[in-house]
Amino acid sequence: MIRFENVSKVYNDGTKAVNRLNLTIEKGEFFVFIGPSGCGKTTTMKMINRLIELTEGTIYINEKKVSNYDIHELRWNIGYVLQQIALFPHMTIEENISVVPQLRKWDRGKIGKRVTELLEMVGLDPDTYRKRKPSELSGGQKQRVGVIRALAADPEIILMDEPFSALDPISREKLQKDILDLQKRIKKTIIFVTHDMQEALALGDRICVMKNGEIVQVDTPQAIIENPVNDFVEEFIGSNATTNFLEKLEEKATVEDFLHRISADHSPSYQVKPLSSQTTLEEALAQLADNDNIPVEKDGEVIGTITRQLVVQYLAKRMIERG
Ligand code: ADP
Ligand code: MG
Repeated sequence: MIRFENVSKVYNDGTKAVNRLNLTIEKGEFFVFIGPSGCGKTTTMKMINRLIELTEGTIYINEKKVSNYDIHELRWNIGYVLQQIALFPHMTIEENISVVPQLRKWDRGKIGKRVTELLEMVGLDPDTYRKRKPSELSGGQKQRVGVIRALAADPEIILMDEPFSALDPISREKLQKDILDLQKRIKKTIIFVTHDMQEALALGDRICVMKNGEIVQVDTPQAIIENPVNDFVEEFIGSNATTNFLEKLEEKATVEDFLHRISADHSPSYQVKPLSSQTTLEEALAQLADNDNIPVEKDGEVIGTITRQLVVQYLAKRMIERG
């Protein structure tokens, strides 16, 4: 859907913001860019809808170079949500949402219906809110309007640059949930920038970790947590984010996931190679990460079975005894 081929950006003052980016974002994907401030996330994003011209390489959308699109067509087909949502203060919420549909010359009836539908989609009662001015909305509500304004003309792609980072934690978490629900229903391609790993893990189908204008790792949240490619990624994830992610993963698990997991956990013991009686406990514990229990063998005979639970209990007891 969106393909970066050796894309670089050097600003006029010589700043190398993005360096030889190669990347493909799939249709319908929730794709997150993450990295420290100044690593090139916003530059990458703005090159997609040509708010910034690239210096080298090519970006394709549906296999057509972005430079070959009519600039208006390109912008209208790509929704854009900013951190400090810039609603027009003198216009009503309805007028704010209608900007792009009007530019696209939708008729009034269609625009009105669309505004109703969008407000309902994010839980803002249309009768109450459509005639209000932005100043009569809370921060979280304004940001919701920012999101639906980007969706208004039904773009294929939505770019979101740290859209929730100015919000308090509660509004933020609520909007994260909303955007996930929304994505499930509308199945748009969403490209989302954040510097918050927890947010990236909660939202992304895939996450692209950037540093100094380059890609460090592109992977699913689970793969990033389980196999960070280097210390930078590992530190960036942090243990809090990991714990939260794993807790959320459990909450989200379906019964089917659960059945798969139990059957994986209870693979018949004959598939497990028995441990030699001289194996160290440390080594056994490492192997028990993948198996619930492992038989122990001495002189070709099974002399017993050790289980993860027993080893952990034993070690825990020893630790307590030793203080
Ligand atoms: P991020 O969004 O990850 O914080 P940016 O893409 O905004 O990073 O910036 C990447 C680098 O490019 C930074 O070093 C930044 O200072 C620099 N930069 C951004 N915009 C400009 C500009 N208009 N002119 C010169 N340098 C810029
Ligand atoms: Mg930025």
